[in-house]
Amino acid sequence: MPFKLLREVLKVGEATVPYPFVAVDLTPGFRGRPQHDPAQCIACGACAVACPPNALTMTTNLDEGIITWQIFYGRCIYCGRCEEVCPTRAISLSHDFELAVMNKADLYEQADYRLAACTRCGVLFAPAKELTYVLALLEQSGVTGDELAERGALLAMCPTCRRKNDIVKLVALNQEAV
Ligand code: SF4
Ligand code: SF4
Repeated sequence: MPFKLLREVLKVGEATVPYPFVAVDLTPGFRGRPQHDPAQCIACGACAVACPPNALTMTTNLDEGIITWQIFYGRCIYCGRCEEVCPTRAISLSHDFELAVMNKADLYEQADYRLAACTRCGVLFAPAKELTYVLALLEQSGVTGDELAERGALLAMCPTCRRKNDIVKLVALNQEAV
């Protein structure tokens, strides 16, 4: 019986690799450290909404007029939801799995983005890069000329001013119809 077992063991060979002395072969779909490209990011916050353990957060600082994207790798479960929802491919899971650090602060990464002020009331209401991105999408989808300018003007207003603007337009339309 012991010989049979030994034969089996020899037949199977080594099932482990002598890591860390040799590199590990990773499969193409391996999910390691999420990598963020601050230049590509528009601070839309979709990844923070989708992140199950709240490893990703967005914090608004109205005094400084910035919104901060942050990841805490200590919380990440490498599910890949952030990569799935990101509209600009600014975040993707890499093959990096060696995340040990000496200092907990090294498990954080941040990026700051400027908030845009409403063109009507001046309140800070959305990441400026996100607005630019939406306008570019409209242009790419074929919106041009006056319509693009009109939509751009609406986009540059906070939701409250947009609603007020809609009401003023509706009232004007109703008066014309009377
Ligand atoms: S991989 Fe999952 S847990 Fe990690 S940051 Fe992305 S969404 Fe959050
Ligand atoms: S979803 Fe992408 S673009 Fe939006 S905040 Fe996250 S990384 Fe940036």
